[in-house]
Amino acid sequence: MPVRVGIPRYLAYFSYYPWWKTFFEELGFEVITSSPTTKKTLDDGVEEAVNDACIPIKLYHGHVVELKDKVDIIFVPRLVKVRKFFTETFCPKFLALPDLLRASINGLPEILDTRVDLSQGPLELFRISREVGERFGVGLSRISRAYLLACKALRRYKKLMQGGMLADEALQHMEKGGDINRDKKRDLTIAVLGYPYLIYDSFINLDIVKKLRKMGADVVTAEMVSPRSLLREAKRLPKQMFWHYSNRAMHAAYYYMNRKRVDGLIHVTAFICGPDAMLDRLMEIEARQYGQMPFLTVSIDEETGSGGVDTRLEAFIDMLKRRRVQR
Ligand code: SF4
Repeated sequence: MPVRVGIPRYLAYFSYYPWWKTFFEELGFEVITSSPTTKKTLDDGVEEAVNDACIPIKLYHGHVVELKDKVDIIFVPRLVKVRKFFTETFCPKFLALPDLLRASINGLPEILDTRVDLSQGPLELFRISREVGERFGVGLSRISRAYLLACKALRRYKKLMQGGMLADEALQHMEKGGDINRDKKRDLTIAVLGYPYLIYDSFINLDIVKKLRKMGADVVTAEMVSPRSLLREAKRLPKQMFWHYSNRAMHAAYYYMNRKRVDGLIHVTAFICGPDAMLDRLMEIEARQYGQMPFLTVSIDEETGSGGVDTRLEAFIDMLKRRRVQR
């Protein structure tokens, strides 16, 4: 029977899932992914996680609870550094994730907490892959093949998103093929920015993207900008932030503001997130400086209700439409 590896459908899942899935399957593992987030995921996470955790960390616990009795190992990589040009890292809760899970949830299977620090050299990702494969007795040629196919899958995923797909659309396209149903172009375009696990999880963000589309706005995200363009925009910040996802969101904000390709910016943020508090303020100040770009913050916690968010989105869209007419 193949080793069953569980992958929680949250946090870095939205950035790296095609790589992880391809790699483990090519090694001969059975990959089991937790279901899309529901109220039960949230309730389980709230029950298991430490009280002062942010909502994303609680949700991640909920996804792990769903997987723990179905798999032999759960893959929870300890992401330290993924871009060599920056000194950024991930927030402390992200870095401590494997330890937080072990301390909070009883009856866990093995947590595979592979440390990922790509600043160690160009071959580091292959070295890590080899370490994981050999730990489960897989030979070098099979590991090498799995590694190459995993890199190819991730490149394809990123290309699809740079072509305008959201994460779930790109994943669906990779699994089932076919075209994504795109409605006709709408009057407004809004950049919805923030951490991928807030932008692409429709349960926790109260389905903001679908709501905006229904209200007549196209949505663009940080993942739709090429890495080269993000790198160029990074130079506008006199000093980079400490956190990987904060930098990406801010660089994307500069990209959209400078090219005047959007009518407004929405920052989706997690309540009580320290790194995000700084990012939100910076985005707001910069939006004001870049030709008074309309800016809205949507802050999410477990108590956030759909009604309040809908009202704020409607008011924002109305304001953007009036602004258009007046121009
Ligand atoms: S960056 Fe913020 S939202 Fe994300 S895990 Fe850390 S504290 Fe939570």
